[in-house]
Amino acid sequence: MKEAEERWRREWRKIGYERFDWGSEKPIYSIDVPPRYASGRLHIGHATHYTHQDIIARYKRMRGYNVFFPLCFDVNGMPIEVQVERKLGKKMRDVPREEFVEECRKFADEKIEIMKRQFELLGIWMDETLYYRTDAEYYRRITQLSFIEMWKKGLVYRGEFPVNWCPRCGTAIADAELEYREEETELVYMKFKVQETGEDLIIASTRPELLCAIQMVAVHPEDERYRGLIGKHAVAPIFNRVVEIRAEEGVDPSFGTGAVMVCTFGDKDDVRMVFKHKLGITRAIDRDGRMTEECGLLAGLPVEEARERIKEELQRRGLLVKREKMVHNVATCWRCHTPVEFIVTPQWFFKTREFGQEVLRLADEIRWFPEHMKKRLRQWVESLDWDWVISRQRYFATPIPVWICEDCGYVVVAREDQPYVDPLRDPPPVERCPRCGGRLRGSDEVFDTWVDSSITPLYNSFWRRDEEKFEKLFPMSLRIQSHDIIRTWAYYTIIRSMFLTGKRPWNDIVIDGFILGPDGRPMHASWGNVVDPLEVIEEFGADPFRYFASKTTPGEDTAFRYKEVVRGSRLVQKIWNASLFAGRNSDNIEMPKRLRILDKWVLHAYSRAMREATAHMDSYRWDRAMKVLEDFFWGVFADHYIEAVKHRLGEENTKFTLFTVGYGILRAFAPFLPFVTEDAYQNFFRDKVGLESIHLASWPTPDYHFPEEARLGETIKEVIAAIRREKAERGLSPATPIPRVLVFARGEVLEALKAEADEIAGAMRVGELGIEDLSALERRISALKPNYATIGPLLKGMTSKFVQWLREGEPGERLEELRSGQIVLDGVQVRVHESMVQVVEEWSYAGEPLKIVKAGEAVVGFPTRR
Ligand SMILES: [Zn+2]
Ligand SMILES: [Zn+2]
Repeated sequence: MKEAEERWRREWRKIGYERFDWGSEKPIYSIDVPPRYASGRLHIGHATHYTHQDIIARYKRMRGYNVFFPLCFDVNGMPIEVQVERKLGKKMRDVPREEFVEECRKFADEKIEIMKRQFELLGIWMDETLYYRTDAEYYRRITQLSFIEMWKKGLVYRGEFPVNWCPRCGTAIADAELEYREEETELVYMKFKVQETGEDLIIASTRPELLCAIQMVAVHPEDERYRGLIGKHAVAPIFNRVVEIRAEEGVDPSFGTGAVMVCTFGDKDDVRMVFKHKLGITRAIDRDGRMTEECGLLAGLPVEEARERIKEELQRRGLLVKREKMVHNVATCWRCHTPVEFIVTPQWFFKTREFGQEVLRLADEIRWFPEHMKKRLRQWVESLDWDWVISRQRYFATPIPVWICEDCGYVVVAREDQPYVDPLRDPPPVERCPRCGGRLRGSDEVFDTWVDSSITPLYNSFWRRDEEKFEKLFPMSLRIQSHDIIRTWAYYTIIRSMFLTGKRPWNDIVIDGFILGPDGRPMHASWGNVVDPLEVIEEFGADPFRYFASKTTPGEDTAFRYKEVVRGSRLVQKIWNASLFAGRNSDNIEMPKRLRILDKWVLHAYSRAMREATAHMDSYRWDRAMKVLEDFFWGVFADHYIEAVKHRLGEENTKFTLFTVGYGILRAFAPFLPFVTEDAYQNFFRDKVGLESIHLASWPTPDYHFPEEARLGETIKEVIAAIRREKAERGLSPATPIPRVLVFARGEVLEALKAEADEIAGAMRVGELGIEDLSALERRISALKPNYATIGPLLKGMTSKFVQWLREGEPGERLEELRSGQIVLDGVQVRVHESMVQVVEEWSYAGEPLKIVKAGEAVVGFPTRR
């Protein structure tokens, strides 16, 4: 199969059926493909998620849509920078900017070539004519235009604001990019004084080095211990800063002593309280993670050292009451895992926080699959504490198109006709500061990469590039993405689409789950549970991998299972074999007047399966669709229909049905298993159809409705299956004749069996097949076996008497007596029940003893005297 897969990869490239057709009248189905991040190898989650998108794209093409499915890559930001730093063995800031950016681009170019090949290996056929990468000037131009537009709408501001700051990477970090880890730390109990009374006030903190930036002491309003202190003032040890003691609902009375210090800015709670209580701001930590001049004896020390130093100092002065070990959650940088600090820096912001309700209203216009994922967006939006920090102090990203006056700080934004523009290289739109005539300096800041990726639907739809195309393409049909980036990519995309167009970005959003290691844990190199999708493809082929992907449920995390891949391999083989058979023995002809019951039975089942599969595909349940198709294909078509008609090849009805169902089910598998379906099509059906590729065919929507035959056919199928099982039990091959079989039924089932007797006899090579009315089947009770488990408890000591009674009578009569509920044993009346015995029956027809088996609405009898 592997050589065949490679051949089709080459052929498909020539056909180009994945291309979006600008001249087409067909309805458009557009996918806002997640631009694949250009930083390395494809992992199994990517392979699975892109396969899902490809399945949808192929399905929609077959449904007659003009599908917009762009090949695209995300090429901005820190992950690439970090890898390039590692490659160069140098920190970014030690390399000239232009040179570093060039290295990043080269790195991405190489990765993109590799990743294109990986997509090809998987059979993921994205449209190269719609290609984009987010670091290209044509893309960054749109990012900059979107910023200028946001600026004009008053949605951008420059603010002194606490931001999450990674001292190692030297950049602001979005909330969504934080990673938390548990760490042991020390809770330090320090002695404060109450200014008004002179009494001691003990306060515990994990960040004693921030004493220098204390703004307030907070206690819970209902904490009895501190009621009297609210409104008074606390004097901080060592720095002697005097701050007010205030009541604050957010304080946890069980933490430390229940009195806490609020600084600028120890953690997020501090930030919230500083703004809520309109406290002052003391810059205690600088961009390199060192204590500032404000911190007196700690000035210049890195944070961790300062913490130790202040503890020593407190100890020395007798102000340290006790130390306690505790575990707490530390926010760290998602790239380098350094603990982040809150620092005050000037940054650019999008005003997003106040638009929460509008975002949620727009989110309601989008169909979410699965529906419950929308809740995650709601929770996120409702938990937001501040606006979106859009600036980063890095190199490899889209430059912020602004110039700043060196004298008065006035900001000049690029004109709309300027982008793509690099303010470090290109002149500002005006020569001097319009306010003071000072010199303008180009900004060296860049955008958070979500600023680029949050406009993918706008870029895709030619926003600000071609109004006519934009009208046609926006909103897009679908976004598929994983659940971990709902709070970033989904949220940012919706809000920017709202600001820039007033509309929802897509009609549907599908949230995909994670793929876990085979052991059910996240894949981690150190746990040895990483599965490389390319190795899976190397061993099994792309289709079996895609089969695994198609069996994962959207929104749910799924452990990778080799078992499913193996099952996929078997399905691929079976599809090939069944197509070979169906293709060679079929014809693309009009439906003949006469169809046999099993023909109608399979056509009916095929129609029902396709209806169900279609409904599942339309609600993005590729897993359910695959199950329906597989069940029909194995359980109805391949195992039963094909086997049953081998004796009547060449008949028109057989040829018609084999073609209709054989070619139909092959098409239905095509979006999932593009290689084997193409290969089988080219070998066995193309001569009858003429299309260049199965992927140009339409999705089957058969409408054969034969409910009566569906029911009767089920019994015929069961009869054949029963005979096959009997042969297997006797060790006979399916081709070996079986001498005599009797089938019993009633009414229309009997009539149907009679009419199709030659089908049954032919399919199973029955020497002599009798079809008889059920009433002709004779039953005799030959013995009653005592059932001790129920006898014991009912009869206690009379068990042996009961068994004797059983043996002495005629079994049929004894059973009647048992059914009456009472018998007399040894002169005693006892209660009895049918369940006290096991009935042994003998069946016969006209005196010929039979072994019987139930088969649908019929009974199959095999003579036991041979
Ligand atoms: Zn970092
Ligand atoms: Zn100025």
